[in-house]
Amino acid sequence: MLKAVFFDFDETLGWRRKYAYRTYMQFITSLTPDLDPLLREVIVQDCMIWDMRGQYSKRFILENIQKKYGLNVPDKDEFYVWWNDNCAKNMVLYDGAEEIVKELQGKYKLAVVTNGSARGQYSKVRASGLWDCFDYCICSNDAGSRKPDKGIYLDACSHLGVKPEEVLFVGDTFTSDILGALNLGMKTVWFNPTGHPCDYEVDMISDLRELRNYLD
Ligand SMILES: [Mg+2]
Repeated sequence: MLKAVFFDFDETLGWRRKYAYRTYMQFITSLTPDLDPLLREVIVQDCMIWDMRGQYSKRFILENIQKKYGLNVPDKDEFYVWWNDNCAKNMVLYDGAEEIVKELQGKYKLAVVTNGSARGQYSKVRASGLWDCFDYCICSNDAGSRKPDKGIYLDACSHLGVKPEEVLFVGDTFTSDILGALNLGMKTVWFNPTGHPCDYEVDMISDLRELRNYLD
């Protein structure tokens, strides 16, 4: 019997592409306020490619901005703090995220299980307005383990008193969210709104409200 639903955050509940875009736009504008709007857009679109859905380091992105466009970029640690604060300020949820989380609240134990730092991840969940809907939020830095490694999933299970087979895991990244959850015997739903092809048989949704089809 399903007792808990665990969510990834970035690009699952939070519409990361939107808040990352807004934050890169603010950043490039702050570096070069008088830049031609077309060139500014080009640089921001490059940032989105280098960002690789948040998989690549900010150091890599800053170095590329400097190398390709000759802009003076801040130190990576300074940028990282600024980035986290501003991503939270620019928070946008996916359509249906608030609706489905509020619908599940009280029916299942709910958790956010996310890779990243406490400062970055918890502030985004708080900014989403959904923090109080979750029974538990854990980020990889606090768990000492990153998805797809089992430690972070088991941390959430033990905190909520559920077994992995009683959990439905919802996430957008097949190679971390879905892989790690399947390895532990969790049920999974892959949130794949952009329709990445996949030959492996896995439950997949393109709108979070389709989750209703996978719940008791
Ligand atoms: Mg994600």
